[in-house]
Amino acid sequence: MPSRLGSIGFQWYSSPFGGILKAVRGMHDIFGSEMAKWKWIETQVRSVFETFGYQEIRTPVLENVEVFSKTVGDETDIVEKQMYQVTKENESLVLRPEGTAGFMRAVLEHQLHREPSIQKYFYYLPMFRHERPQKGRLRQFHQFGAEFINDSSPEADADVIALLDAIYRKLGITEYDIRINSLGCLECRPQMKETLTGFLRPALPNLCEQCQKRFERAPFRILDCKRESCREITAKGPSLSSCLCTKCQTHHTQLKKRLEEAQIPFIDDPSIVRGLDYYSSTAFEFTSSLLGAQSALGGGGRYDQLAERFGEKPFPAVGFALGMERLVIALEAKNAFPQPHLFPKLYLAPLGERALDILFPLSLQLRRAGVWTEISYESQKSLKAQLKHANRLQAHFSLILGEDEIGKKVALLKDMAAQTQTEIPLEGIYENLLNKVNREN
Ligand code: AMP
Repeated sequence: MPSRLGSIGFQWYSSPFGGILKAVRGMHDIFGSEMAKWKWIETQVRSVFETFGYQEIRTPVLENVEVFSKTVGDETDIVEKQMYQVTKENESLVLRPEGTAGFMRAVLEHQLHREPSIQKYFYYLPMFRHERPQKGRLRQFHQFGAEFINDSSPEADADVIALLDAIYRKLGITEYDIRINSLGCLECRPQMKETLTGFLRPALPNLCEQCQKRFERAPFRILDCKRESCREITAKGPSLSSCLCTKCQTHHTQLKKRLEEAQIPFIDDPSIVRGLDYYSSTAFEFTSSLLGAQSALGGGGRYDQLAERFGEKPFPAVGFALGMERLVIALEAKNAFPQPHLFPKLYLAPLGERALDILFPLSLQLRRAGVWTEISYESQKSLKAQLKHANRLQAHFSLILGEDEIGKKVALLKDMAAQTQTEIPLEGIYENLLNKVNREN
């Protein structure tokens, strides 16, 4: 019979099903060569945000549930079924499922929209949605997002679309379509809704259960339904762009003109409605054939009325979010990741205690100077074993120090790829190595 302690230990390392504890379904660890890919992408994307004048903002992972329930929309998948909720001491909190609502909460809390200077923010944050996991669709995923506030011009929309386009181009991804649409504004939206519901009403029994549910409160979302039977019906629907008011029409025409001038190809697609309620006017999506079933690379739009959902005066805003994991999939499909340069410059191989006494402080001196240095602390190990380790790490140079070398007041510097070896004096060895390494860079 196992001891009490033993059975507790067993439970700690095992899942209730008896296997090893694993990460939560739809959530992944990122490490090793995968991490190198992520870091490369992150550097590229950040550099594009900087050239477009965006500053980073980080909001908390947890927000009050109202931040999303009041804004993203009751009838959306996110609010209806995907939010991870945490209740603690009468607080009802949510693990952030998307970035814009939390961003708007932060803007209003800190009155950022009243500041004359920075009006462009980007974020890079983990998101949580309880979705059915599959390739490119996770329960914890990461989004880069851009939010451009206080500019209502179609040029701001074109600027944001051009930014998303520039990010993919910077990464070498060109295989995507840009679809844009206008969702109308407070003035023309009622007319659009009436036209749409008038068309859909006779077909209501043939729509899926969820679309039937959405008919009264969120009929536009029906245009976004992925079911083939619903798509067949909506494809025959009337053109809602004819319902746009003059202001929205002019805005949309000007946006298209700006994109043409910028030589950014796009498709005007009335089915682009986005899965979140807060959008009005411009909406857009980038889709790629590199991705498979989950083809959305990124998307966004205007959310000029979002502040009102927080009970505040509205102000213009436009933005987008793009999925990090989908970037990785697209770049892997293209085999487009550069070879990571993740190799130490120097491997210090001490043979014996006295050698370790000399090389240990030297390793720290070199690291302080920014030289990636590895050192073996197993100075009793043979030279062969230590060099094998250096080779495995793909170190550029190894520095070998044994009793013979100490007697001669030198060390041996071995170029691991060229298999050449030179003696260097112990006196001034730090400066000597720095020079050598810097010459090789
Ligand atoms: P959304 O916030 O739904 O407009 O999504 C913006 C982008 O985030 C999408 O175009 C995808 O690239 C990515 N994305 C959305 N949901 C997921 C998910 N569950 N897993 C991975 N990426 C996602």
